[in-house]
Amino acid sequence: MRWTYACPHCQAMLNPDETVVLIGECGPHRILLGFHPEPGNYRAFFPPEFELQEGSTWDFSCPVCDRSLVAGAAPDLCALDLATQGVRHRLYFSRTAGEQATFLITAEGISSHGKDSDQHSLEMLELV
Ligand SMILES: [Zn+2]
Repeated sequence: MRWTYACPHCQAMLNPDETVVLIGECGPHRILLGFHPEPGNYRAFFPPEFELQEGSTWDFSCPVCDRSLVAGAAPDLCALDLATQGVRHRLYFSRTAGEQATFLITAEGISSHGKDSDQHSLEMLELV
């Protein structure tokens, strides 16, 4: 299975290798983070010696165009475009460190991933 991620604003590919690379900002920190491409796999990569604080809220943005990925309809989530086998979907993920909640919107509907996904209301996403 190959997942291809793109910025919803500039369409730049965000995982030229496997790892999805985003800019993350939290308080004084502005770093590049890497995420595993498989929805529901929460393996993430941080700069050496960076200590992630559980529960902190992050602003993610595109490393190419620098625009925010925060979802307008659901401000505690960020949005990315995700293509699998040539079909484009929309993926939402939680901005809270340590929270495992990912939602994949396809033509078939919404699929939820992660143990914390039931903490989010999906009503807004259904309108997108
Ligand atoms: Zn972009």
